[in-house]
Amino acid sequence: MQIPGHIDPVPVPRAAPARADGRVDLVGLSKAEIRAALAGAGLDERQAKLRAKQLWHWIYNRGVTDFALMTDIAKAQQPWLAERFVIGRPDVVTAQVSTDGTRKWLLRSDDGQDYEMVFIPDADRGTLCVSSQVGCTLNCRFCHTGTMRLVRNLTAGEIVGQVMLARDGLGEWPSQPDGRLLTNIVMMGMGEPLYNFEQVRDALRIVMDGDGLALSKRRITLSTSGVVPKMAQAGEEIGVNLAVSLHAVTKEIRDEIVPLNRKYGIEELLQACADYPGANNARRITFEYVMLKDKNDSDEDARELVRLLRKYKLPAKVNLIPFNPWPGAPYECSDPERIRAFSNIVFEAGISAPIRTPRGRDIMAACGQLKSAAEKKSRAELDRLAEEKLAALG
Ligand code: SAH
Ligand code: SF4
Repeated sequence: MQIPGHIDPVPVPRAAPARADGRVDLVGLSKAEIRAALAGAGLDERQAKLRAKQLWHWIYNRGVTDFALMTDIAKAQQPWLAERFVIGRPDVVTAQVSTDGTRKWLLRSDDGQDYEMVFIPDADRGTLCVSSQVGCTLNCRFCHTGTMRLVRNLTAGEIVGQVMLARDGLGEWPSQPDGRLLTNIVMMGMGEPLYNFEQVRDALRIVMDGDGLALSKRRITLSTSGVVPKMAQAGEEIGVNLAVSLHAVTKEIRDEIVPLNRKYGIEELLQACADYPGANNARRITFEYVMLKDKNDSDEDARELVRLLRKYKLPAKVNLIPFNPWPGAPYECSDPERIRAFSNIVFEAGISAPIRTPRGRDIMAACGQLKSAAEKKSRAELDRLAEEKLAALG
């Protein structure tokens, strides 16, 4: 049995409550689920199948949120749909733009949960950094999100909703294969995606559907801090690129900075990487390595990293991430010369090890800086508030 807590921090699943108006949000449902919802509301099987196909196209290819604009659906049926269903979007609480063009949105779910998403424009691509949970149970010591007390898994609808909202904001409807601003997705926002496996999988399947958002699996990367038992399943059932937050090469240091290491150690993690379905030289696994001064940044660490990647024959590239500070963080970023020396050792061994330029630091949008105000209430406080609300309803 798994015991939630510091080392075995499986979030207690909390279902997102139904909408107050009783309507069903179609965003986040698979085609089959839309069909079933329509049939459940009274359409016969043939109609339900046809309408599901049409709705899918309007929702994910055209970005339409109003049934009245769906010209191939009978006028008389549009209000019938609107009474029972919605095509929702997360509420935007704030939207900020960094001096380097990075954008951050604070979003709010129907039940008042806050989470963030970030858009990072580059010359040749635009990357949306998507959250999978409100907060994170894993408490990596260098990560601001890990200090949030409140955690709830996001639903598939809330995960896809981030992509829909970004597309709205960028004016990228209808969906087309060429000339897009939003070209890539990274599951690197708040949360550990492999602790919310089903919802992340269902959301990414929707994002990859060719008649909808149509982002290729080669342009999607899922980052995990090392949830070993879910990695093979992720490769088989989702099939996107894998990034692994390694950050240290000894048990002592990784235990300290990524506490999940006490459960799934480095060797076990690297073996799971070696076994990851679909990884090869054309599709390498990315190893993320945050540069912490005097903690994990010595020449010896760099040489040990090379040895480990060779030992497991990993088709690897290493992303060196300068530590992004946050108020009260217990670490400092390594000096630029140290990061360069580390990078050179890895490069000289024939493994690509670029140093990432931090993006959006001025608006707290860089890696590890995401943390919404939701932490101000603890799980216990929220449970108490929910009980009070129920009691008030009588
Ligand atoms: N939970 C997943 C994905 C989200 S974090 C994971 O940990 O992989 C995305 C990346 O940012 C991870 O590699 C994470 O370790 C890194 N990160 C977290 N805090 C950071 C910080 N303060 N500075 C730089 N990178 C950080
Ligand atoms: Fe969670 Fe990733 Fe932050 Fe660790 S680095 S606390 S796994 S979001």
